[in-house]
Amino acid sequence: MKPERIEILGVPVDCLTMNQALEHVDSVLMSGTAHSVVAVNPEKVMKALDDKRLLERLGRASVLIPDGIGVVFAARILGLGRFERVPGSELMPKLCELAARKGYRTFLFGAAVDVLASAVETLRQRYPGIIIAGSQHGFVADEDMPGLIERINSLEVDILFVALGSPKQEDWIDRYLPLLRVRLCQGVGGTFDVIAGRVKRAPAAFRAAHLEWFYRLATNPQRIRRQTALPKFVFEVLKQRAKHNFILFGHRTTPKSQPTQRPHS
Ligand code: UDP
Repeated sequence: MKPERIEILGVPVDCLTMNQALEHVDSVLMSGTAHSVVAVNPEKVMKALDDKRLLERLGRASVLIPDGIGVVFAARILGLGRFERVPGSELMPKLCELAARKGYRTFLFGAAVDVLASAVETLRQRYPGIIIAGSQHGFVADEDMPGLIERINSLEVDILFVALGSPKQEDWIDRYLPLLRVRLCQGVGGTFDVIAGRVKRAPAAFRAAHLEWFYRLATNPQRIRRQTALPKFVFEVLKQRAKHNFILFGHRTTPKSQPTQRPHS
């Protein structure tokens, strides 16, 4: 079943839980056409508001997972739906597990050479039997892209993971997916770095308190510029909520039924 697609500040996202995402992806993998999975978080929402092309690309993705907790809370605050966070970095390992179980052929594209090699090795250890048909680091010149596409196609890949960061990977997926004979392509951002152990995910307590973003900021202060999108996102969501309240209830502040008071003469 296709998930319901809502819009947060005009940016689309699918109402999904992790299980629903997996079920959907599983059914998609059995269909003949190529599908894309792209993550939506507050940072990407704010980027898409400034970048019309990114917004259009998101609209063309097959599945838009609610990757950031901000997106989940925003949907609740705006009364658009209740769903849970589906982090792309958790969906990828689950897809690897599925691939190992069902014999799907995978390909990893993105990240630095050493990070990629280490991610490939870790996945092979963690998911015995997984077929990693090939891999390619993420610093490929435009003129070499046709060769990469040909290589991926010749390897008969089912699931392609693309880790180029945002918005580069959304651009890449939108541009090259029509030329690829894969069944599924997931944009995974910095997930290869996490799998390779170069970047640590937040400890469970931070994740449970929905403070993963804070942990990432505290452990990597260079992200501060990117994280400024968060307060802007919160502000825009609250503004939209206030606007919505005004439309719904604003007229009640001047009740129609009250007769106009005339001054006593
Ligand atoms: N990257 C890449 N090619 C590029 C730019 C970035 O392969 O041209 C890789 C980079 O090495 C890193 C990942 O893309 O492994 C981006 O990670 P980041 O944490 O910035 O992504 P996010 O999940 O925050 O979008």
